[in-house]
Amino acid sequence: MLNDNRPIYLDCHATTSVDKRVLEAMLPYFSERFGNPSSTTHLYGWEAESAVKQARITIAEAINATPEEIIFTSGATEANNLAIKGVAEAYFSQGKHIITVATEHRAVLDPCKYLQTLGFTITYLPVQPDGLIDLEQLRAAIRPETILVSVMAANNEIGVIQPLAQIGQICRERGVLFHSDAAQAIAKIPLDVEQMNIDLMSLTAHKVYGPKGTGALYVRRRNPRVTIASQIQGGGQERNIRSGTLYTPQIVGFGKAIELGLDLMASEQEYLLQLREKLWSLLNQLPGIELNGHPTQKLAGNLNVSIERVDGTALMLGLQPTVALSSGSACSAASTKPSHVLTALGREEKLAHASIRFGIGRFNTIAEIETVGKTVVSVITSLRQARNLPQNSLKI
Ligand SMILES: *Cc1c(COP(=O)(O)O)cnc(C)c1O
Repeated sequence: MLNDNRPIYLDCHATTSVDKRVLEAMLPYFSERFGNPSSTTHLYGWEAESAVKQARITIAEAINATPEEIIFTSGATEANNLAIKGVAEAYFSQGKHIITVATEHRAVLDPCKYLQTLGFTITYLPVQPDGLIDLEQLRAAIRPETILVSVMAANNEIGVIQPLAQIGQICRERGVLFHSDAAQAIAKIPLDVEQMNIDLMSLTAHKVYGPKGTGALYVRRRNPRVTIASQIQGGGQERNIRSGTLYTPQIVGFGKAIELGLDLMASEQEYLLQLREKLWSLLNQLPGIELNGHPTQKLAGNLNVSIERVDGTALMLGLQPTVALSSGSACSAASTKPSHVLTALGREEKLAHASIRFGIGRFNTIAEIETVGKTVVSVITSLRQARNLPQNSLKI
């Protein structure tokens, strides 16, 4: 798909390309159909409004919600901030305790950290060595003053899928709101806010072949009716919860990406599993390589491995010409600190350093996976050989 000199893209947890079918759906809304969906007095406004409405219906149906429960945002980061700060501000009189998990995305952890400066108490649940939370620990952590539990659907580094329905059931029984960051999960695994008792859910378009800079927060309207304090005030769009002119082309693309994702979900997940198994079978020939996270309860496109006796930086440099991927999480790829997610799994710091996250996606081919598998094996083998040579023999 890409020209020959570019590395093979295996970083689909960081972002994905916009599917051509999505791009095509978006294009008219940049030009002829450029109206403001809030304009109620002319055709330009009506056609934009109608396109936004259709996308809203598609996205709502994808998670078994109603269209009124979807608040468009600039992405999952904003949706997480809106959910967590919005609930904190609306419910603080009932308590100032929030429960989340050590392996969450920074867009959840950092708003929680910020709330601590305002007097909230946050419990960061640990995870088991496979990356899953312990439901008994969650149960035990809930206090009378707990107002919110925030647990992601699928992890962006290790792909682990948390038991959402069980978490939702516990939260519902205890009368605590349940928020889930589903940025990596939407249109990859089935999500149902009713069956899973989810009260707030963060979504984004650009991890499922939609455009960057658009997402949504689902906010439950009945049983119970959730109120959240707006974090951006202005023109009163999105039922006064999130002001700002709606970005029509992006929203249209988001809707199309979700529609396509749902249509393709079953066959695509099967295809990705096949590619992942191929990759793992090639890598697993190496000694001293280990899988991170639960082996099966995870996203089909995710493979995260830790490699012994190899320097993480040297490994990334060696792979760069052939394959685009991440060590640790994309957000902290530039830092030398081991990923907080791998550390939370109880990985030794050293092992956490030499780790690779493969994010396989819709447009990868089996031939690409074979090339990558062989390259990774050969780069690691030669780095290990160089390391084992006596110092002076390197100078020959
Ligand atoms: C990518 C990602 C985010 C951030 O989403 P943006 O739309 O880029 O703001 C949040 N949480 C998870 C789990 C993610 O993977």
